[in-house]
Amino acid sequence: MYRQHRLTKKWVTFAPHRNQRPQAIASVKHEDECEVAVNCPFCAGPDAPDRQVFQVNSGKDGWSQYVLANKFPSVQSDLDPKRSKDKWGKLAADGFGKSEVIVETREHSSPIHLRPANQVRMLFRLYKDRVIEHFKDNRVTQVIVFKNCGKNAGASQPHPHSQIYALPIVPGNIRLETDCARRYYDDEGICSSCDLIAEELEADQRLVLLTARVAAICPYASENPYEVHLLPRSHVTSLTLISDQELDAMADAAREILVALNETLGGFDYNIVWDSAPKDDCGAPFFHLRLRIIPRLATPAGFEIASQMSVNPVLPEIAAEQLKKALKKGSR
Ligand SMILES: [Zn+2]
Ligand SMILES: [Zn+2]
Repeated sequence: MYRQHRLTKKWVTFAPHRNQRPQAIASVKHEDECEVAVNCPFCAGPDAPDRQVFQVNSGKDGWSQYVLANKFPSVQSDLDPKRSKDKWGKLAADGFGKSEVIVETREHSSPIHLRPANQVRMLFRLYKDRVIEHFKDNRVTQVIVFKNCGKNAGASQPHPHSQIYALPIVPGNIRLETDCARRYYDDEGICSSCDLIAEELEADQRLVLLTARVAAICPYASENPYEVHLLPRSHVTSLTLISDQELDAMADAAREILVALNETLGGFDYNIVWDSAPKDDCGAPFFHLRLRIIPRLATPAGFEIASQMSVNPVLPEIAAEQLKKALKKGSR
């Protein structure tokens, strides 16, 4: 079966006959989480030498979280992101950008689903703080916030951490989604995600979790098995504009979904990605803030590269049903 994303028109292939038990799909076990924290650069704390630290949050035992400069950045903070065109009109810009790492906790092995809820809330508040801080820089137009958890998700350090990139450009996929959302708003007079939430509530096939402030949905044209999108139920565009109450609700929901995913998949690598409005679209009626939790259960191969089309063995309706069951089990 093929399904098309309503906004971007991207197709996804579903191959449910390839489906196996969820535990078999997620074969990753996190043995490395028990690794002894010898020479861990993040356990060393914000006062260790050779690091540039931007923000430290403290608890009763000293630091609880800190933000430091990425040691291996792909961008440079001391450049002017001047754009230039060559004589054929091809565009380039100097590689300005800021790249930071958030060390989320003192604990070397403390995945989000096992962490106390209030620590996850603190992490989400820190995401908001950093985006607000970066948007003060006139050179920055977009801030990317994400987390890689596990080797299959691209994490090079086992210690729980997130990353922030402040950029002078709007990356192509965000521009595509923004353009599509703008067009949808022009046509329909309503934000596509606000519309989607209402529709998914009514259909009740892919809705995993609904709280007073947050809806968690397995998307209709889900590119990855067990991918879950979390959306604030009221129209919010950006991490800079979300209220603290809504952000806490997003943190609580994300934690619960990760608990349910662990219950269902039994250990897996994943990425967490925020889709937050570019600076110029903060407050726009068409852009809706979203958090995507993306389990990394398969490696894209030639077909996916050639067609730019995902092959997903698990229908989102099945994933949603399993995750709902796991949530119920957890709340008993
Ligand atoms: Zn560590
Ligand atoms: Zn909306």
